[in-house]
Amino acid sequence: MRFLITGGAGFIGGHLANHLHREGHYVRVLDDMSSGDPSNLHPDIFVKRGDVRDVPNIWSLLQGVDVVYHLAARVSVPASILYPREYNDVNVGGTVALLEACRDVGVGRVILASSATVYGQQANQPVTEDAPSRPAVPYAVSKVAAENYLFTMGQLVGFETVSLRIFNAYGPGQPLPPSHAPVIPYIMQQVAQNASVVVYGNGRQTRDFVYIEDVVDALVAAAVAPHVDRETINVGSGKETSINELVFLIGGVVGKKTNLLHNGENSGGVDRLFADLQKAEALLDFRPKVSLKKGLQNLYQQDPIFHKNDGPAASPLLGFSLGRNGG
Ligand code: NAD
Repeated sequence: MRFLITGGAGFIGGHLANHLHREGHYVRVLDDMSSGDPSNLHPDIFVKRGDVRDVPNIWSLLQGVDVVYHLAARVSVPASILYPREYNDVNVGGTVALLEACRDVGVGRVILASSATVYGQQANQPVTEDAPSRPAVPYAVSKVAAENYLFTMGQLVGFETVSLRIFNAYGPGQPLPPSHAPVIPYIMQQVAQNASVVVYGNGRQTRDFVYIEDVVDALVAAAVAPHVDRETINVGSGKETSINELVFLIGGVVGKKTNLLHNGENSGGVDRLFADLQKAEALLDFRPKVSLKKGLQNLYQQDPIFHKNDGPAASPLLGFSLGRNGG
C-alpha cells in the first residue's frame, strides 16, 4: 500500500514509517522538523520537509496514496496553554488543510492521531469512547476540533476516517526537551543522573502508559480494518498506573534509589485516566503486548540518551508534562 504520514519524522510517526517500510509498503513523510528528526527514518523513505498547512505541497505528496496518517501537531499541553493560537493554527488549521487536499486529490482513508486528553476529568474509568469530551486545555480542544473536522469532511467528501485516541505513548526515540518533557523520559533521565524527581500533585493521579510498538500495531490495523469508518477508538494499555508507582518502577529498571519530591503548588492534572479497550479489540483486534515493566526496560536499554554522562540533569523545577495524554 501507499502511505503519507504527516509528522512522520516525530516519535510515533518515525516508528510507524519504519515499520511500514519494513513491511514492504511505500511511505512518504511530510514533516516541518519543528520537533521531528529525519535521521530517525530509514534512508529509503521519501521525506519532504514542509508545513502541513501548505495545501499545494500536500497535493503532490498525496498522488497515488491509499491511506493518510495525520500525526503532524504541536504536542505539549503546557505549551498549548501559553500559545493557544499556535496550537489552533497547526493542530486545527493543519488538519483542515490536509482534509481539503485529501478532498481535492482523493484518498481512501485518513487516520488521525487524536489524544486521550479529549476526555479530561471523567468519573467512570476505564474511559470508553462514548464518554463526553471535556477538554481542559487548548491542546485537547484542538484535538476535539480536529476529530470533528475529520468526520465531517470524510462524510461530506466520501473518504473513510478513523480517529485513534492515544493515551501516554512511550518508548525509545521520544524527544526529551529541556522543559515540559514527557513524563517517562523525564523521570528516567532524572533517576539515571541521580537527580530529584519532581511530581506535580500528590503523585496518586493515574495514567495509561502504552508502549510504542503497541501504538504502531493499532495504527497499522486502523489502515486495513474493515469496519472503522467514522469510528473513534482508544489506544492504550488498558492499565492504570499512578505517577508514584511509575517512579518506583523506573527506579527498579535503572537500578537506582529515587529521590521523589511532590510539588503540591501545581496541579497534577486529572485524577484518573485509563483506556477501555473493548472497542479497539473488537474493531482492530488490538491487544497490547508489552507490559509497562518490559517497555521501561526496553526504553532504558535502547535509548542512548539515558547513558550519556556529558550533561547536567534537567532542572527538577522544570518538572514534566503529562502532556499529550491527560493534562
Ligand atoms: P512528535 O512531536 O514527536 O511528532 C509530531 C511531529 O509533527 C514532529 O515530527 C513535528 O516536527 C511535526 N510537526 C509539527 N508541526 C508541524 C507542521 N506544521 N507541519 C508538519 N509537521 C509538523 O510527537 P508524537 O508524540 O510523535 O505525536 C504524534 C501525534 O500523536 C501528534 O498528533 C500527537 O498529538 C499525537 N499523540 C501523541 C501521544 C503521545 O503520547 N506521544 C498521545 C496522544 C496523541
